[in-house]
Amino acid sequence: MASEKEIKEIYENGMNILEDLTNNVQEIQEQVLEEILKRNAGTEYLSRFFPNGQADNQSFKTNVPIITYEDIQPYIDRIANGETSSILLAYRIIQFLLSTGTSGGQPKLIPMTAESFEKRMSDLLLSDLVTRKCFSGSDEGKSLYLYFIKPEIETPSGLKASFFTTFYFKTESFKNGLAKFCTSPIDTILCLDNKQSMFCQLLTGLLQRDEVIRFGSTFASVLARTIKFLEDYWRELCCNIRTGYLSDWIIDPGCKNAMSLIHTRPNPELADSIQQICEDKSWEGIIVKLWPKIKYIHCIITGSMSQYVSLLEFYGGGIPLVSPIYNSSESSFGINLKPLSKPFDVSYTFLPNTAYFEFLPVGKDGEGKAQETWTDDEPVDLANVKLGRYYEVVVTTLAGLYRYRVGDVLKVTGFYNKSPQFQFVERRNVVLCIDVDKTTEEDLSKAIMKAKLILEPLGIMLTTYSSYADTSLTPGRYVLFWELKMKGRNDVPKLDAKIMEQCCCIVEESFDFTYKSHRKGGAISALELRVVKHGTFDELMDFYVSKGVSVAQYKPPSCLKSDEAVKILNSGMVGKFFSSKTMF
Ligand code: AMP
Repeated sequence: MASEKEIKEIYENGMNILEDLTNNVQEIQEQVLEEILKRNAGTEYLSRFFPNGQADNQSFKTNVPIITYEDIQPYIDRIANGETSSILLAYRIIQFLLSTGTSGGQPKLIPMTAESFEKRMSDLLLSDLVTRKCFSGSDEGKSLYLYFIKPEIETPSGLKASFFTTFYFKTESFKNGLAKFCTSPIDTILCLDNKQSMFCQLLTGLLQRDEVIRFGSTFASVLARTIKFLEDYWRELCCNIRTGYLSDWIIDPGCKNAMSLIHTRPNPELADSIQQICEDKSWEGIIVKLWPKIKYIHCIITGSMSQYVSLLEFYGGGIPLVSPIYNSSESSFGINLKPLSKPFDVSYTFLPNTAYFEFLPVGKDGEGKAQETWTDDEPVDLANVKLGRYYEVVVTTLAGLYRYRVGDVLKVTGFYNKSPQFQFVERRNVVLCIDVDKTTEEDLSKAIMKAKLILEPLGIMLTTYSSYADTSLTPGRYVLFWELKMKGRNDVPKLDAKIMEQCCCIVEESFDFTYKSHRKGGAISALELRVVKHGTFDELMDFYVSKGVSVAQYKPPSCLKSDEAVKILNSGMVGKFFSSKTMF
């Protein structure tokens, strides 16, 4: 694990480390691959591809196939069932990471070694350092970071499996590092009951409101949920502050104990000022009103999280949104070197020492839609990607993944020294699909962003959305779910059918040529928009959390695959609209 000394080294010398890494991309990448092969070429998995025993960087690229999780799953399953991990990698697996992606309904298990954890840690620390450098005085205050864990799973081999965040929050590195700057006591973060945890974390955040200079979490979706929780519980939180008592439904011993150290006396003045702020009709800027010294909001807001940008801009009163890092259970990829970039301009600079990266070129047609990866094109190295081009990232790690397709499409937007910077475009496997039309996450998000513009002058906010392809009817149609609310209030807005139909039309208009031609030819029927009431998407999150997804890593699906999930959103429906039948 990263020792205090290593953490100190990064904070003291981090900017030089960054310069060194980004100036020597090709050399470092070659060294990383050499090291991976030196250690792992003799494993059962890799040795098959080197029949003459010669495993150099060049033969790696010619012999080892590009794979997906399903190709490596038999090896992972064998390890999870008790075989030695040396069939896949030389170093000891300390545990598996659970990815939010699934394979055949099961969560993906990704091996993690002590070393691969350290690599991720150093990226997290570097990203933290870069962000702090951007905001003067950010070393002085505290962070109100809402962090949650999920129970671990034990595989038959005895190896544990958990979400990365769960593992990380339990380490000494976290306890002795970032946790020291957090308002939330570690025991409230480690509480397995997310509701008690949230209540206590918000309570401690409010008790220390004058010290908080950062508000954040892992993903924007967690902050959206936090704001909703605050809407539901601010009265009870104020009552706790006023009386000095802790609500009696907080029964987790860790939470109770931690709170008894910090929540020690009645504080009616503080309760009054919070009450006054929360009683205000408009909650615009509520985050800065409650925590007036906040300098920025810190969470991932790109990709599927971009749907929360306007919500966070509204409640954050315009303070900067910082999207720090792009990583996954498989590997850490890059960090945001320009924390002040606007959410839709955020790019991540890849650091060449974390893994060996290759990039499969992804075609884009005239309308900017990602096509199938050109499989006849060779993947290119990190140092050879081209500005403006789209790629799917392929990763080879020290922890047993060899030429593994992560499933994310990225666009090269620039370079920092010699290291490419990428914008996250979409997760490849998230598509709405009817007939031969494939609508990607990016298409959907762009179309909805356009359509929601006509609601904004009416004071109506789109807080979150999802979709599914309804093929129960012929021809099938795409169905959108929108959660709408009035700015600053939670009431369901009065919905003007004409305007809502116009939204449907704008969405369809924005889809690509293939969609429109199918729609015109009658292979796809008119798009349907179902408006759901405020809070319905929280129920969806509860559903996924109950299925084992971690709150801290939850990403609202932009496209639903489960009937149960559709049922949940349907149950909150307050209106249903269609685009004009004859629009094409
Ligand atoms: P998980 O393995 O469950 O942590 O999920 C990793 C996936 O989350 C990545 O492959 C991306 O699709 C997505 N992701 C992680 N970080 C970002 C980011 N900064 N922007 C957009 N998507 C991200």
